Amino acid sequence: STAAHQLRTPLTGIRWALEALEKSDLSEEHKALVKSASDKSHELVAIVGTLLDISAIESGKYKYTFVPVDIQSIASEVVADFTPLAQSGKVALYLESSATPIPPVRADQERIKWVLNNLIENAVRYTPAGGSVRITTQALGTSVLLSVRDTGIGIGNEDRENIFERFYRAQNAITVQNGGNGLGLYIARTIATDHNGDISFASNTEGPGTTFTLTLPIAQE
Ligand code: ADP
Repeated sequence: STAAHQLRTPLTGIRWALEALEKSDLSEEHKALVKSASDKSHELVAIVGTLLDISAIESGKYKYTFVPVDIQSIASEVVADFTPLAQSGKVALYLESSATPIPPVRADQERIKWVLNNLIENAVRYTPAGGSVRITTQALGTSVLLSVRDTGIGIGNEDRENIFERFYRAQNAITVQNGGNGLGLYIARTIATDHNGDISFASNTEGPGTTFTLTLPIAQE
């Protein structure tokens, strides 16, 4: 926690300096360098944010504001956000509309959006070109289930037990994406269980890839 907080201030200074530089009159070559430094500084900001989240979770300071939330509209925002990444990786990303109305869930809007970001980003990043990521929602009993089904690299039997552990990354994931930190699913599942929900996953039976399912309780009237 202390380290993450201490990293924040100089990082903010670096971001300001880079933003000012980006607006100045630069040669094409220098523009590209500043852009690359700026992209990396965004990644650092995200990593520091993740570390702060982990320390807040572990010290019991992770707070939630529960309200009735329309999960499909959050899913459609997240799908829109990741469409450029999916297109650049030649992955078809789509949200299926449900045949029956999906009731609102009891959730913290921002945190649940974070969970969907993580599940959908993973699905897109771990799916090779030509594959697809399909998101479906359904109401079942007192819960809503949102599934993210990809046709990607899959999760081997040897990794299944550890996938929600902090910092754990399967070897096939490290090979295709060297940028991850193995913290996303740990935080995502903590958020889900703090909602009295859960996240589970299963290998697809009718082809390659994995389906992650987020379960959340339907909001009471
Ligand atoms: P990261 O993606 O940064 O490595 P996560 O905590 O989000 O960290 O995921 C942990 C690990 O779970 C990944 O490194 C990868 O091995 C595996 N994983 C997560 N999502 C998928 C997926 N959709 N397909 C295959 N493997 C996955």
